[in-house]
Amino acid sequence: MAKKQFKAESKRLLDLMINSIYTHREIFLREIISNASDAIDKLSYLALTDDKVGLNRDDFRIRVALDKDARTITVSDNGIGMTKDEMEENLGVIAHSGSFKFKSELEDKDNVDIIGQFGVGFYSAFMVSDKVTVISRAYGHEDAWCWESSGADGYTVTPAEKADVGTDIIMHVKPDAGEEHYDEILETWRIRELIKKYSDYVRFPIRMDIEHTEYVETDELDEHGNKKTKPVTHTEEETVNSMVPIWQRSKSEASDEDCARFYKDRFHDPDDPVAVIRVNAEGLVSYRALLFIPKKAPYDFYSRDYKPGLALYSSGVMIMESCADLLPECFRFVRGVVDSPDLSLNISREILQHDRQLKTIAGNLENKVKAELLKLQTGDPEKYDEFWAAFGRQIKYGIVGDYGMKKELLKDLLKFPSSFNEKLTSLKDYVSRMPEGQKYIYYAAAENLRAAAGLPQNEQVKARGYELLYLTEDVDEFVTQMLWSYEEKEFKSVAAGDLGLESQEDKEKDQETLDRSRELLDFMKETLKDDVVDVKLSKSLVSSAVCMSYEGEITLEMERYFRQMPGEAGEKIKARHVLELNPSHPVFASLTAAFENDKDKAAKIARVLCDQAKLLSGIPVEDLPSYAEAVCALI
Ligand code: ADP
Repeated sequence: MAKKQFKAESKRLLDLMINSIYTHREIFLREIISNASDAIDKLSYLALTDDKVGLNRDDFRIRVALDKDARTITVSDNGIGMTKDEMEENLGVIAHSGSFKFKSELEDKDNVDIIGQFGVGFYSAFMVSDKVTVISRAYGHEDAWCWESSGADGYTVTPAEKADVGTDIIMHVKPDAGEEHYDEILETWRIRELIKKYSDYVRFPIRMDIEHTEYVETDELDEHGNKKTKPVTHTEEETVNSMVPIWQRSKSEASDEDCARFYKDRFHDPDDPVAVIRVNAEGLVSYRALLFIPKKAPYDFYSRDYKPGLALYSSGVMIMESCADLLPECFRFVRGVVDSPDLSLNISREILQHDRQLKTIAGNLENKVKAELLKLQTGDPEKYDEFWAAFGRQIKYGIVGDYGMKKELLKDLLKFPSSFNEKLTSLKDYVSRMPEGQKYIYYAAAENLRAAAGLPQNEQVKARGYELLYLTEDVDEFVTQMLWSYEEKEFKSVAAGDLGLESQEDKEKDQETLDRSRELLDFMKETLKDDVVDVKLSKSLVSSAVCMSYEGEITLEMERYFRQMPGEAGEKIKARHVLELNPSHPVFASLTAAFENDKDKAAKIARVLCDQAKLLSGIPVEDLPSYAEAVCALI
């Protein structure tokens, strides 16, 4: 039973591999070079203890040669080579493609590199070739053998001649056909590009003949009497790959400046990053990572075109250009590279998502990025604020998203403008400045800094010597609602009505005033019933006459946010408005007098005060002409 199930699953994995490989045809060279590098690894390891190998570390190399006329790409290595039997065993897979043998040990699928077992790596040569010839001489053997196959119809193994130990893989490139262009891969520039892209950090030199053209003067003169020049080309063998990746170097071998240069070059950013993060982890999963926090958001950062993720390598061979699963959404601005020898080279996107090792790496990196940002926040606040200006919004979205799953990770990274000084403050700093007796973290939310700092309700809070955060981004109040509190201090909007600032004495006095004004408030409520759900005496106003507050979950800022959105949300999602009156303001006395003597006038005053409160809170007044008329009438 169990065995059958497993077969089906393996088959599925294989289909995934083969399909994704066909769509990414250019990786064929990476696969062949990676095999060559493995073969050299084996022989160079032997060479450490066995003098008979006769090669030094510096002698090992991979050669890539192109022959346009013969339409061949040849990859040669001086690695361990293959015997006749090994060729049959290792490369024979092609001949039984579609009828892969399922070995029993494969059942323990966690321990086996499934794809390696099937030789899909070497198989990829057939994505670009109609025939593949392998000539190999194994270390310790005098005889060489030639394996050859045109794919489905099987293979031959015949004796061959080869002077040195190692392997030549000769790929006979397919002719161009319709949409499929193969001619290009016979061009030096293209092959060089593929080596740079996928195999740049292979540990051994990959050498190619590169043509150089120089223009030299001749004795012939042109019509101006200048000496004519003619092109002279000569060919030189060069190492195409850079071999030791910068992330494999220690801090003394690669300075932060070196890393910044690499970053700018690799990720096409003209600015230095604000932080460089180096990780060298050993343990359950070993890996190295070199991460960068950019200074500015790229122009497409908040669009769908932006591709988040880190480049993923396995021992210097690139597996994926941007692997999004290595980073949580909230850190999608981080760029960089992860290299782990523990990851299989032939891993596909679909499988990566479920890869346990990858999840472990992602979890570690998440914490590293946070730690680095916190270090920057305290160590270099100015730089941090630059980062915050570019990506703060992303962090806020991170808190609100996924039902608040990441809020614990991210809350310490938040910064807001505050009444404390001109600069931004973290929540930790805010709380550390809270005087004894302050129960809440107070904030004023509005469209911009000026409006937030000018809200009438701020006065009462400030009068107590309490600090105010100014929330000016759409997402801000969703953030405070998601967090609810910080270090056990609840967030409190100054527009939320009861600010918890009153003493017992105040309360008794308020009750008296309230009793006296009961009828007036009922009258106002009736007059303004289309605009507000309640009219109250304010506890938070000092010098202003009125303000607008709200009841319930939807705040005034959220209403404003939804109003900007297209469609129904803007119509439907509205805060429950509450008009607050300041009983110690002269206007309140005039209102009371009018209420007793002239109800019409009182209604006009009510209208004007309500509209004024709306304007101060950034809520549009629908009937501006009536407002203007009422103001004039009263004047
Ligand atoms: P994998 O490399 O994942 O094992 P491949 O299909 O790429 O699968 O290769 C199959 C096997 O063929 C390798 O494991 C290796 O034993 C052998 N092989 C391939 N290329 C070479 C080479 N250049 N030199 C020596 N052995 C090779």
